[in-house]
Amino acid sequence: MIDIKNINKSYGNLQVLKNVSITIDKGDIYGLIGRSGAGKSTLLRCINRLEHFDEGQITIDGIDIKSLSRGTLREFRKNIGMIFQHFSLIERKTVYENIALPMKCWKIPKNQIDKKVNELVQLVDIEDKINVKAKNLSGGQKQRVAIARALTLNPKILLCDEATSALDPKTTKDILSLLQKINTDLSITIVVVTHQMSVVRQICNKMAILQGGEILECGQVDDIFLRQPEPLKNLLGEESINPPDTGSYIEFFMIPGHENLLSTMAWELGEKFSLVSGNIEKYRENSYGHFVIHVDISSVNKYEMWLKNHGVRYRVIGNSDEVIINA
Ligand code: ADP
Repeated sequence: MIDIKNINKSYGNLQVLKNVSITIDKGDIYGLIGRSGAGKSTLLRCINRLEHFDEGQITIDGIDIKSLSRGTLREFRKNIGMIFQHFSLIERKTVYENIALPMKCWKIPKNQIDKKVNELVQLVDIEDKINVKAKNLSGGQKQRVAIARALTLNPKILLCDEATSALDPKTTKDILSLLQKINTDLSITIVVVTHQMSVVRQICNKMAILQGGEILECGQVDDIFLRQPEPLKNLLGEESINPPDTGSYIEFFMIPGHENLLSTMAWELGEKFSLVSGNIEKYRENSYGHFVIHVDISSVNKYEMWLKNHGVRYRVIGNSDEVIINA
């Protein structure tokens, strides 16, 4: 649906996007994640041509967006809604007026505007505030209004630029649930720019990790978690695992349906091991685990056999050769 190919962009001497290529499919909630200054917002703004890019191509539903003239660009932009960290509402106007604004610009008849605003305030669950001025709303309520306003022209794509970064954790969760509902119920493809892995975990099915204008990793979120590539570890501030002084480490990954993995393995093998590190994270509806255990060198083969037989992806650290099994 959104095909980004070999995009380069510079501000003066500063190259902020370097040969960026990603494909976003219809129905995706695609996370662009990276530290501040990585180029995420710039890339997002290239998608609706708020930002110009120097080289490369972006096609949306087969349309090369660089080929659009001024007039067709305006029409084309109806397909793409956008929300921002600081909501960009008109503070002195009411919820109704803020949501109605894009439709007024398109000179849509008043009765149709009324109908659409009423539908949208229900969708984003803010109907009781319809006549309240934006300045009197909480951050979460403001973002609900901004989401409603972004949906007025029935877009196919919603771009979210750090949409939850100004919100507290509970409100963030609620807004992310709302975005997920919009994705599912209205079949809107969503692209999310964030510096928070928790946002990606809660709603994204795919992600790209950006650093210094480059895509370091991209793909399915659960697959990237299971592979634990260096860019993900760097992003999360995790240290690489150094080999142990004695014995071996076994690093392995737990997928949904394998929740009892650790205890079953210990029970069935009748072996003792020490847990070096472990975490279980929820990605959308599923739980994925990542564990490192320390085992005696004489038991490594036994563990390997068991993990292989149970289709578990693992890596042995400590021998001269590291083994990765892609189960
Ligand atoms: P992110 O969204 O990952 O924080 P941005 O896309 O906002 O990153 O910025 C990427 C880089 O481009 C940063 O170094 C930023 O300072 C620079 N930049 C962004 N916008 C402009 C601009 N209008 N003029 C010059 N430099 C800019």
